[in-house]
Amino acid sequence: MFVQDSDLSIAGRKWALHFEDSSEFFPSSAEKLLPLTVLIAGLIFSFLIFFVLHSFSRTKLRALQLAQELTVDLQKFQLAVENASDHIIITNTDGNILYANKAAEIITGYSKKEMLGRKSGDLWGGKMDKAFYQKMWKTIKEEKKVFVGELTNKRKGGEKYEVQLRISPVLDEKGNEIFFVGIERDITREKQIDKAKTEFVSLASHQLRTPLTSINWYAEMLLSGDAGKLNDDQKQFVNEIHVGNQRMVDLVNALLNVSRIDLGTFAIEPALTNIVEIAKSVLAELKPQIQKKQIKVEEKYDKDMPLIKIDPKLTRIIFQNLLSNAVKYTPVKEKISLNVTKTKKDLLIEVADNGYGIPKSQQSKIFTKLFRADNVQKKDVEGTGLGLYIVKSIIEKSGGKIWFESEENNGTTFFVTVPLSGMKDKKGTKGLN
Ligand code: ADP
Repeated sequence: MFVQDSDLSIAGRKWALHFEDSSEFFPSSAEKLLPLTVLIAGLIFSFLIFFVLHSFSRTKLRALQLAQELTVDLQKFQLAVENASDHIIITNTDGNILYANKAAEIITGYSKKEMLGRKSGDLWGGKMDKAFYQKMWKTIKEEKKVFVGELTNKRKGGEKYEVQLRISPVLDEKGNEIFFVGIERDITREKQIDKAKTEFVSLASHQLRTPLTSINWYAEMLLSGDAGKLNDDQKQFVNEIHVGNQRMVDLVNALLNVSRIDLGTFAIEPALTNIVEIAKSVLAELKPQIQKKQIKVEEKYDKDMPLIKIDPKLTRIIFQNLLSNAVKYTPVKEKISLNVTKTKKDLLIEVADNGYGIPKSQQSKIFTKLFRADNVQKKDVEGTGLGLYIVKSIIEKSGGKIWFESEENNGTTFFVTVPLSGMKDKKGTKGLN
């Protein structure tokens, strides 16, 4: 605090002067701290600016690094796609080609320049029936799912070739497709090898049938006493030969049928047929097995079942397989049932049993070639695993459907529908046995 006293004589008078600070001029404590606060705030502010600038330049550097890494990755991807052995194309949602790799050029024979902007259907594709492409577009565009299929294409030079095709829709965050990626693998050679194998099976089964048929005849002749009366042991042994041989005949016939199905050489020849008669005659054939197992059979047929244009031989094969399975896979004294009815558009066949059933985990494989479920193999019931494959092929090729419901130890029901308008005609050189 400032205080000063002084004396002064002016014009013979003495003056005592007293100076003192007024408290209102004193700086407040906040004012006293102000310079320090400004200094500290200035320092913090400068530090912040420095920090922001520093991290900004670091981020920029990192972004540059990342961009470089990404570019390298992208180049790797591009090189991988470009040089993949499978044909890869990317199309817009209308199917116009945006990108094609080298393999696409080699396999189809078209150059990239010829492909870009065009549709595969106008170049190498478009050789399948309409339904195939309708299903393909429905899967990728409406259902937005991956489409997998096998098809025949045509190279630029005119040569046909077989491919396995996978088309994946690529979707944006909202779930709208932005483009499609199509991958085709040329499987012409695999198909040729497969065909050669099937032809071999067909030929071998055909050749095997003749000696097996003779064994059957001779065994039957021996059993009926044509070569003199057999004693009990002889009868039993010849009977074993006959039964074993019959099993071989069934297997060889099944193999022959499968090869004719796989080669596509079997014919479907629909004719106006009484389906109820066929069902009854198959049940009559199965009578010995049914009686042996004391199985109860329930039959139900639509009263006014019309004659339907179906292939009688193939229909017999369907009934034989489904009904003999129901008998085979049902324990003694149980029950099977057969319903043949008609719905609005279809003929519906239901074959039900309350037998061993099919384990849930194996149901998806039931129509595949040579598949037999574990539960029936343990029961030691004879079978080839070919019957249902044959039945499904016949039904699907003739325009019908087959499915089943089953629970292990709780029975199985097979459902078959055939359009009331009849089976589809199919040209072929061979019949099925
Ligand atoms: P298989 O000659 O073995 O009977 P199929 O192709 O006719 O050959 O049937 C394939 C498999 O499906 C059978 O081995 C069996 O596991 C199962 N299966 C078929 N029908 C029935 C049924 N009615 N009940 C239980 N399992 C069945």
